[in-house]
Amino acid sequence: MTRCPKCNTSVDEILESGFVGCEKCYEIPEIRDAVKKMYKGKKHKETL
Ligand SMILES: [Zn+2]
Repeated sequence: MTRCPKCNTSVDEILESGFVGCEKCYEIPEIRDAVKKMYKGKKHKETL
């Protein structure tokens, strides 16, 4: 499982809580992807 090298929070924990432990968490590819998808989904919903 991928963990943030700085704060040691796992990707699962971040996705579950919706909060990152630190700014380095955003550099984890899985988190980047998830954030991108979240924003996309939100934007799509708002458009409808
Ligand atoms: Zn972190």
